[in-house]
Amino acid sequence: MYPSRFRYEAPRSLDEALTLLRDGGEDAKVLAGGQSLVPLMKLRFASPELIVDINNVPDLAYHRQDPDGTLHVGALCRHAELERSGLLRDTQPTMAAAAPLIADPLVRNRGTLVGSLCHADPQGDWASVTMALGGSVIAQGPAGRRAIPVADFVTGPFQNVLARDEIVVEAVIPPAQGTRAGGYLKLERRVGDFATAGVAVALELSGELVAAAGLALTGVGGSTIAATEAGQALVGQALTSAVIEEAATLAAAAARPKSDHRGSAEYKRHIVRTFVVRILTAAAPAAGPADAADAERAA
Ligand SMILES: Cc1cc2nc3c(=O)[nH]c(=O)nc-3n(C[C@H](O)[C@H](O)[C@H](O)COP(=O)(O)OP(=O)(O)OC[C@H]3O[C@@H](n4cnc5c(N)ncnc54)[C@H](O)[C@@H]3O)c2cc1C
Repeated sequence: MYPSRFRYEAPRSLDEALTLLRDGGEDAKVLAGGQSLVPLMKLRFASPELIVDINNVPDLAYHRQDPDGTLHVGALCRHAELERSGLLRDTQPTMAAAAPLIADPLVRNRGTLVGSLCHADPQGDWASVTMALGGSVIAQGPAGRRAIPVADFVTGPFQNVLARDEIVVEAVIPPAQGTRAGGYLKLERRVGDFATAGVAVALELSGELVAAAGLALTGVGGSTIAATEAGQALVGQALTSAVIEEAATLAAAAARPKSDHRGSAEYKRHIVRTFVVRILTAAAPAAGPADAADAERAA
């Protein structure tokens, strides 16, 4: 199907883009990678009258780290840039694990992390990853910039708290207090598919102890789920099989899956539990092979 008729603007500055959005009101939409918006328009699930393409706005295609370890991901930083990033490989294990699992190479070449957060698909992988890491988005509007934690940004499936005249200019991941560990696992029916279930775990380790922990779940609820109690159960603990099991049980209990063509609710909950065990077992600096194997068997 073809999209409905729309006006297309490609501003060359952020100010111009914001003005166009403000004047466009309810019927204006930002276009970044277009990998979610364009399919929706072709299906006529979205029929904006004005498209504000931000691809010509300078200085949005970056990811970089401050000296204190804060990571910034600009609104035009593509999934592929993050997939190839040595910086992520060295400093952000959860993000580095997720980047190659987003869609397929074609989508990764155009789609953006920030666009994925704005799209707020419950099956979007970056929302759970950035939520587990305690990330925020920086929104710019006529009144200036504001930081919104990812946990507060998404209000439901395909819904976020952005005002009509705001653009997200970047996502920010705060620095770790300890050594970063963790990962992202995703079950997909075939390579490139959306998640049947996904689990993001972001740990900060101080020696053998967990100093901070964030867990978030993809595709097992009406929106991305923060498994807060599972994270709390890890803090101050060494990653023994008993601790890992408790966190996995709490994460599975936090999931709100529905049975569908991808699997039954019970199966998806089981996958969440198994993935938590796998990620934490791999992250455990002190877990001996026998201890780790026990946890894996119990999952
Ligand atoms: C075949 C296919 C498979 C896919 N598989 C996966 C997958 O496995 N996992 C996954 O996570 N995603 C998947 N996606 C989605 C993909 O990751 C998209 O790239 C992403 O969801 C949206 O990013 P985008 O830059 O393309 O945004 P766009 O499509 O340009 O925009 C999406 C929405 O966000 C808004 N928006 C975008 N940028 C901004 C901004 N800076 N400020 C304000 N609003 C903004 C737009 O107005 C629109 O409403 C898939 C897509 C396709 C087509």
